Order: sequence, then structure tokens, then C-alpha cells
Amino acid sequence: MSTIEFKQISKVYADHTAVAPFDLTIADGEFLVLVGPSGCGKTTTLRMLSGLEMPSSGQIFIDGKEITHVEPKDRDIAMVFQNYALYPHMTVYENMAYALKLRKVDKKTIQTTVNKTAAMLDLQKLLDRYPRQLSGGQQQRVALGRAIVRKPKVFLMDEPLSNLDAKLRVQTRTELIQLHNRLNATIVYVTHDQIEAMTMGTRIVLMKDGIIQQIGTPMELYRKPTNRFVAGFIGMPPMQFLSGSIKKEADFIIFQGENCRLKLRGECQSSGDVYLGIRPENLKLSSKNQSSIIKGTVTVIENIGSEVIVHLTVGHEQLVAKIPAATEPPLQGDSVTVLPDEAPIHIFDKATEKTIA
Ligand code: ATP
Repeated sequence: MSTIEFKQISKVYADHTAVAPFDLTIADGEFLVLVGPSGCGKTTTLRMLSGLEMPSSGQIFIDGKEITHVEPKDRDIAMVFQNYALYPHMTVYENMAYALKLRKVDKKTIQTTVNKTAAMLDLQKLLDRYPRQLSGGQQQRVALGRAIVRKPKVFLMDEPLSNLDAKLRVQTRTELIQLHNRLNATIVYVTHDQIEAMTMGTRIVLMKDGIIQQIGTPMELYRKPTNRFVAGFIGMPPMQFLSGSIKKEADFIIFQGENCRLKLRGECQSSGDVYLGIRPENLKLSSKNQSSIIKGTVTVIENIGSEVIVHLTVGHEQLVAKIPAATEPPLQGDSVTVLPDEAPIHIFDKATEKTIA
């Protein structure tokens, strides 16, 4: 059992708040992903949990025991870094056995543990090799193996896939998900990549400028972003925004923007200037003149096989629609009308950028 609890944890450097005070409880067996753009404070948060960084305020607990001031080596935590930090002069076997040797575990137990872990990670044939004789993906698996043999309470991972090429990254992502299922371990994982966060996280903590923007499951962040930043960060291609204003009309919200008028079913907390958020996958081309309409001119067509990405200008704004390849695509320069489908529409207050509908 390894529950992690942060209570009002923060980190301030001289004149700069790297992480503003926050509370967070990570349940046993969670795969928690800290995600956000560069400099948002995710690595600092992970380093505070590992003990490599002292918090400026607050407390950290593992399984109810306070560890805020416990030495990193005594926290029963294993870290997997982006550069793997393997010992270059040791073979794969020795790298994986090292921590157990230090703990004076008997030779036979070390052998069994390393072999079992090597089998789990498909490393049996590489045990006699040195790190320089391994590919990036293999080195990454050794780094993982070295962490696993220690049977830590918690695994911390800081961008462990960032040195892998695109194909290997996708493959290793799947392997990490399987590994998490098999080990039933608590994992705290740092990345700037929203796809990694969406695919691997049981929950995501999305940060910006040292402040947690939203905590939730991947689909909660995708479907119910609390503000414009979250909405734009999660999803590929990203959500797009049109400026305009809204007013209520019976059970509807009327959005009026440049070359765009939408009659949307729903409730909103206020009226006035807003951003309307639409995901490219929720737009479709329409020839019909309806009460809802977005008028645009096609600037670029990208056919990616399974889908066609249609880039449009709508007044002074840009919009992208992702349509099925089976649909007859328009041509560059065509005037088209697009419509949002039944998916929820997101409306953000222009001043606060918070979700209001
Ligand atoms: P990246 O993805 O680029 O690694 P990050 O989200 O992990 O970014 P952190 O490394 O946690 O960000 O840094 C958060 C903020 O704290 C940044 O603005 C960074 O410049 C600042 N910072 C980090 N370490 C120090 C330090 N030792 N002294 C002063 N400022 C620091």
C-alpha cells in the first residue's frame, strides 16, 4: 500500500514561485501524471516528493507517515530519469543487481530477482552487455528494471520516454501501461506531452506557471475543462477558440461572432464577451442553411489518409475541421459552412478564461 499525500506543499526560489501551495492525495496503485508546459513546476513537484528538493512550505506523507524531511535514500522511492543514469562500467545484470547488493541481499535471491525482472522486461539476452551496447529503448528498460528489483513503494518517472524516437516512444508507452497493471505500483510520472498524459494516466494533474489548473481523469479534462488553458492543452489537434458574445434566449445560448452565429442548447452562468471552444473533430461541413452556421473560406486541405484536415479562415480567425476521408473534401478557396455536432460546446469568459458553459 502506498498512498501519497501533499498538504499545502510549495516551492519558492528567491523572487519566484515555482510551485504554489497545493493539496493532492494520490491513491495506492494510481498512475498519476504531472503534465504542463516547460517551467510549470512539474519536475520541482516530483523532486520534492523524492527528497531532492526541500519544500518551502507544507508536508508530504507516504502511507500516513510524514516524510517531508526524510533523506531521499530512506523514502523507499525509485526514480527513473530521462537520461536513465545507468552505470557505464557495469553490465545490465550488475546495473540491476547493484541496489540489492548494497542492501546485502544474498546472491541467490539477487539472481532470482534480477532474472525474473529481466524476463518481465524482455532483457534476458542482454544481461551481459554494457549500457553503450544497448539501444535507447533497451537502456530505458534496464533503468526501469533497476527500479523494479528494489520493490519500492513508489516509482517516480521524469520524462522517461523523451530520448526515444517516435515509434519506440509509442511502443514503450504501451509497455509502461502493461507494467503498471502487472506491478500494481503507484507511479508518479512527469511529462510535457499531453498524449502521454492522456494515454497512461489514471489521473492527470495539469499545471501552468506553478499553479495546478485541474486534477482529474483524462476524460474529465477532455470533456470538462475548467478553463481555456486546460481546454487548449488537452486534445490533438487542440481545441480552437472563436471570439464573440453570448446571450440567453429561452433554453438556448446564442453565440455571435464574426461570420458565425450559433444557437446552442444549454445553460450559461452569464452573458457578454466570451471565447467559444470547438474541437476540430466536432465540426462538420454543411451545405444547409440552418439557424447555426459558421462561414469560412478554405485555405489548406491536408489529406492524412484516414481523415481530411480542412483549414479555414472565419472572418479574422482560423478554424480547423477534421472530417472523415470518405467525405468529398472542398477545394482551396471554396466558401464553406461548418457546423458543430452534438458534442458539448465550451464557453469561456473572455476576462477570466474560466468555463461558464
Ligand atoms: P521542464 O519541462 O522545462 O523541465 P518543469 O515544469 O519541470 O519544466 P521546473 O523544473 O519544475 O519546471 O521549474 C519550475 C520553475 O522553477 C521554472 O520557472 C524554473 O526556472 C524555476 N526553477 C527550477 N529550479 C530552480 C532553481 N534551482 N533556482 C531558481 N529557479 C528554479
